[in-house]
Order: sequence, then structure tokens, then C-alpha cells
Amino acid sequence: MDDCQGCPAYCCFKADGAYLLITACDINRLARFFGITDGEVRRKYMANRHSLQVRDDRSCIFFVPGDAPERCLVYEARPYQCRSFPHGEPCPYLVPPGDLI
Ligand code: SF4
Repeated sequence: MDDCQGCPAYCCFKADGAYLLITACDINRLARFFGITDGEVRRKYMANRHSLQVRDDRSCIFFVPGDAPERCLVYEARPYQCRSFPHGEPCPYLVPPGDLI
């Protein structure tokens, strides 16, 4: 398991060409978390049919900037893609100290 404690949450920022896939199950989980309807989640937080909004700095709409211990506003209800990251692989954002240039 990767150590995420020292990471500034790179995985909560949209990389070029990437997007966070949101499924109907994810939308329903978020709706129950907020106590609103699935449609309201789509209207308030979705950029399009399958992706969350991102801010100008490319951070996820649910990312809490700063040093807050809980940097995901919806951590308990976060989308599947967030839950499964880095999908059984080494985190691509972690660079071993010896590999820094
Ligand atoms: S939903 Fe939470 S964990 Fe997923 S990208 Fe947004 S802030 Fe990060």
C-alpha cells in the first residue's frame, strides 16, 4: 500500500487527457451522502454525463484545499475510481527519492 500521507493529493487534480469516471452508482452514493436526488447531484457537481466538475486549478470540486486532514469532502461517499486508485499498481505520483533529478 502506498503512503498517501505526505502527498498533496495529486490524484485529486485532473491530469491532461484524464478524467474521473462517475457511474450511476457513484451518483446515487453521493446523493445519499448529501441527502439530495441523483438529478441534483448531476446539476450541482457534474461537468458532463460522466465526469465531476473541476476548478480552474484542475482540482476536483470535492477537494478541500489546504492542510485539512480530510482533503476529500465526500470521502465516505467518494467515487469508485477514487476508492480503487492506484488500482493495485504502484502510485504513479510517488517517485523514489533516488529517482529524483
Ligand atoms: S471525489 Fe474526493 S478522492 Fe475523488 S478526486 Fe474528488 S476530492 Fe479526490
